[in-house]
Amino acid sequence: MARVEELLRETRETIGIFETRLLLALAMHVRVERLVAHPEEEVTPEAETAFRGYAARRLAGEPYPYIAGEQEFYGRSFRVTPDVLIPRPDTELIVELALEELKRFRRPTVLDMGTGSGCIAITVALENPKAEVWASDRSEAALEVARGNAGKSGVRFLQGSWYKALPPDAPKFDLILSNPPYIDPESPYLSDLTYEPQTALVSGNHGMDDLREIAEGAAAHLAPGGCLMVEHGFDQGEACRKVFTEAGLSDAETLKDLGGNDRVTRGRLR
Ligand code: GLN
Repeated sequence: MARVEELLRETRETIGIFETRLLLALAMHVRVERLVAHPEEEVTPEAETAFRGYAARRLAGEPYPYIAGEQEFYGRSFRVTPDVLIPRPDTELIVELALEELKRFRRPTVLDMGTGSGCIAITVALENPKAEVWASDRSEAALEVARGNAGKSGVRFLQGSWYKALPPDAPKFDLILSNPPYIDPESPYLSDLTYEPQTALVSGNHGMDDLREIAEGAAAHLAPGGCLMVEHGFDQGEACRKVFTEAGLSDAETLKDLGGNDRVTRGRLR
């Protein structure tokens, strides 16, 4: 039987030691710490086969979270499949801003559109149990993943494109959130993201089409004083503030993520 250290050597150069360890730990159903502590340990043939399969997928470019089937977000694990975007650390910013915003309310209503894995809606609901959280997605397959992640969050899921998902008796929302597709169809960066659903990433008109549609519909669905917050690309802050203002939202302001990039724009219905 092969030993841990031998298998780790195989893809150390190509995949890198960090992810090689993750993949071997996944294949062996053990924690990475154990591999580090016991490099001489023998690997069963089943685990070795699984490791080689995972390593081949990773070398072909498949992101690690799809291989593992999960990704950590805001301290919790979310199940992910190729039907949903992999939650990004950058997206924790919109969650933090949402939780801050919700402190003003006793029983706020929240809508997260294009919820994907559900990471934004579910985190907000779990961190603020007083909030009534609705979440929508156009993709039924994504909603299935989100429902599986929902746990005891109480999030209410709806199928449909942006505001069209809402039933006629939907409440006016105190907070509307979205991490929509916002990448320019011509962006060279897209070639790094071929494993993720393109419908969750790409939007026409330099990535602005969906952001604009979300801003334009907001006034009809926000409660007075309610807030719209959207995630966007590092270079879309100014364009977002403009569409917010054109859509009748006030006080449009853009906030930066931990990397120092413009990432979230918010505005209010006065
Ligand atoms: N922030 C993601 C990325 O740059 C894109 C997410 C999105 O389009 N909503 O990979």
